[in-house]
Amino acid sequence: MTKFFFSIAFVFALFAAFVPLQKKENKAMKTENVIIVVIDGPRYSETWGDSSCQYIPMMSGKLLPQGVLYKNFRNTGHTFTNAGHTSITTGVDQFINNLGMEIPDHPSIFQYYLKSKNMDPANTWIITSKDKLEILSNCKDSVWKDKYKPSTDCGAKGLSTGYRNDSITVMRTLEVMKQHHPHLILINLKEPDFSGHANNWTGYLKGIQVGDRYVYEIWQAIQNDPLYADKTALLITSDHGRHLNGVKSGFTNHGDECEGCRHINLLALGPDFKKNVILDTTRNQKDIASTVAYLLDFSIPTSQGEIMQEMFVK
Ligand SMILES: [Zn+2]
Ligand SMILES: [Zn+2]
Repeated sequence: MTKFFFSIAFVFALFAAFVPLQKKENKAMKTENVIIVVIDGPRYSETWGDSSCQYIPMMSGKLLPQGVLYKNFRNTGHTFTNAGHTSITTGVDQFINNLGMEIPDHPSIFQYYLKSKNMDPANTWIITSKDKLEILSNCKDSVWKDKYKPSTDCGAKGLSTGYRNDSITVMRTLEVMKQHHPHLILINLKEPDFSGHANNWTGYLKGIQVGDRYVYEIWQAIQNDPLYADKTALLITSDHGRHLNGVKSGFTNHGDECEGCRHINLLALGPDFKKNVILDTTRNQKDIASTVAYLLDFSIPTSQGEIMQEMFVK
C-alpha cells in the first residue's frame, strides 16, 4: 500500500515538474504573429540619419516610443530589390536575378513556418507592389520546391504583370489581415525607390513620407484588432539604400557597395521587444529571418543570420 502511494506521489511530482516546463517552453514568446514591411530603397540620410526625422514623423514620433530602432542595420549582400528581400526571407545573401526570373536557392520563413505548424497557405502572405517579388514564395531546394508556399498578392496581377500603387498594396494588406489573420506577412512598398529611379527628388521624399504614414496605419490596424493586438510584432525595414551623393548617379540608383546602398534601418515593435530604445549593434537582413523563426518558434537551419537577442525584453 505504501509503495502504491509512493508511486502516485512520484507520478504527481513528475507531472508537476513537467507541466510548468512545457508551459514555459510554449509561452516563451508573447508574439504569435509577425508583419514585416519593406519600404523599398530609402537612404539612411533621408530617414533616421536625418536628425530632424522630418520625412518620418510617424515612425520617429509615434512608433519609436513603442519599439526598438537599429541605427546600424545593413544589407550585406547585393543591394538590389530581389536580393535584399531574399536575404530577409531566407536568411541567406545570394546573387539573384532582379527581374523576377529566378527564385531563391533556400527555403523561406514562410515555408519553414507552414511546414512546422502544419498550416494552410492562408496563414502566411506575401503582399507586394512589385510583381517580381512573387519569387519569394518558392525556392530551388528540391526538398522544398513548390511545397509549403505562402499565399501571394503581388503587383498588378502577379509575376510579370507590372507594379501597382502602394495604396492598393496597403488596402489589400488590411483586407487580408481582417479576412485571414495570417501569422506571417511580408509587405513591399515600391516607393520611394520608384520615384528615385525616375530622378524625381520630390517624389522620392514624398514616397518616404507616405510610407511612414502607411506603416503607422498598419500598426493601428494591428492594435485595433483583438486577434492581433499585443501579440503581433511589426518589423519595418528596407531592401537596400541608394548611392550617396557623389557616388555614380546619386539617389537615382543603387546596387553597389557604397555606404548609401548598404546602410538601411530596422524599427521593430512588439510585445517581446524593448520600447523607446535605440541600439548601436550592427545587424543585417539575414538576422530578420532567424529572429522571426525564434519569435514564432520554428527552426530555420539554412539561415546564416543570428537571433537579435539584444532587442528582447529580458
Ligand atoms: Zn528595391
Ligand atoms: Zn551605392
